[in-house]
Amino acid sequence: MTDRLISTEPATGEEVWAGDIGDAEAEVAAARAAWPEWAAHSVSYRIEAMRRFANEVRAREQDFADLIARETGKPVWEARTEVAAVINKVEISANAYLERTPMRKLEAAMGSKVAVRHKPHGVLAVLGPYNFPAHLPNGHIVPALIAGNAVVFKPSEKTPATGAFLFDCFRAAGVPEGVVRLLIGGPAEGKALASQPGIDGLLFTGSARAGMSLHRQFADAPHKMLALELGGNNPLVVWQASDIDVAAMIAVQSAYLSAGQRCTAARRLIVEDGAEEPLIAAITKLIDRIIVDNPHASPPPFMGPLIDVAAADHLQSQWVGLMMKGGKPIRRLDRPQEDRPFLTPALIDVTDVRDRPDEEMFGPVLQMLRVADFDAAIDEANNTRFGLAASLVGGTPAMYDKFWANVRAGVINWNKPTNGAPSNAPFGGIGLSGNHRPSAFYAADYCAYPVTSSETELARAAVAEGLRDAYVPTDS
Ligand code: NAD
Repeated sequence: MTDRLISTEPATGEEVWAGDIGDAEAEVAAARAAWPEWAAHSVSYRIEAMRRFANEVRAREQDFADLIARETGKPVWEARTEVAAVINKVEISANAYLERTPMRKLEAAMGSKVAVRHKPHGVLAVLGPYNFPAHLPNGHIVPALIAGNAVVFKPSEKTPATGAFLFDCFRAAGVPEGVVRLLIGGPAEGKALASQPGIDGLLFTGSARAGMSLHRQFADAPHKMLALELGGNNPLVVWQASDIDVAAMIAVQSAYLSAGQRCTAARRLIVEDGAEEPLIAAITKLIDRIIVDNPHASPPPFMGPLIDVAAADHLQSQWVGLMMKGGKPIRRLDRPQEDRPFLTPALIDVTDVRDRPDEEMFGPVLQMLRVADFDAAIDEANNTRFGLAASLVGGTPAMYDKFWANVRAGVINWNKPTNGAPSNAPFGGIGLSGNHRPSAFYAADYCAYPVTSSETELARAAVAEGLRDAYVPTDS
């Protein structure tokens, strides 16, 4: 008997979806068989197929947003923005393909030409996370398909219904059966997929822990593409902000949107020691107004529950760990219903915590650190193995220049939240946040490889040096 995967609503515990665990080998074989025909089509043919896919998603927008909201727990208004991002990805990826991997003809000696063209890798595996279960895997799948790859997509085991819905939209758009395959399962199926000899690469969005495991798994396969988009421990520095209420709003949006379940969420709030009181007052005033509720509740909540009870338990134990090491809570991480993963937005002063773990707290916890001066703020911003997003709120242009030049991250913002990165720009991090394969606009780069060809219709050659006798053409 095949094993089943059951997905439940975090907000209620009700079943959303159930399906059979898939077989990685069979899915890869189907994709391999379909790949050559897909790769042989023109780019414009494949872009047209993606436009039909965007139309399919548009036609089901409301159902899709409702499903994402139910399965992840995020508010339905936020789920709608995720569906919009899925649709917009098509035009962005078409432009990115043409801009990042265009055909070029270069002049070369003796009237010949050098052509640079790109080829798809073949079959690419895509592993998705649960926090943006449609937008993020889609951000790999659409560019991979445009470039001419076939894809085996394994959604997170926590959001298989959303994965199946996305897959169904590709099918309904007429993308051939073998070209996109759906593999249902968890980490075991992810590992099995990664180990298939029939894949030419793997595009991953998820935790640093899983990313490192995949990196090890790929140690013997340096010829395969591995793109890792991982987590962060992102700093938000607030320094001499002219408008404290705006600074507080930016902090709250950075830390608590999506219940803090964003890779770009601010985890560490770095402030000037002695000048923090007005900012704390403004942030706590906002925290106390935040509605935490079911995704479809009215009035609409700012944030829903965490993805599941295990995630809430884990975050609570990380919170207790900070308190035991000397953290001083300013707003506590409360759990109003013991059996459900709703958590309230929390703020804790960790300035005096010794051996503060440099780990991602994937939920609504913001850790505050007081430092003496701006140089110390930059040092503290860099006091992490990760390097995804960082923001400065306040400061002068010269201070922002200094911040930009010295902070190590792939996204560096000024007077903007750490999250909400634009899709039409590259997106990636350094350190433990990735392996230098940025996604979003630069996804085109890892979906195809360049081929350089020196070409001329008429074969001509000359050996200029090192021959013994004068050259006499063979036919004369
Ligand atoms: P996760 O790493 O637990 O799972 C991601 C996917 O990998 C899932 O499909 C899972 O089944 C699979 N998987 C897990 N362990 C695996 C293994 N050892 N081998 C193969 N496959 C494995 O991540 P998650 O909890 O679903 O997502 C949250 C994490 O993703 C956070 O760390 C967050 O910061 C990160 N994230 C990063 C980005 C980015 O673009 N950098 C975006 C969103 C989320």
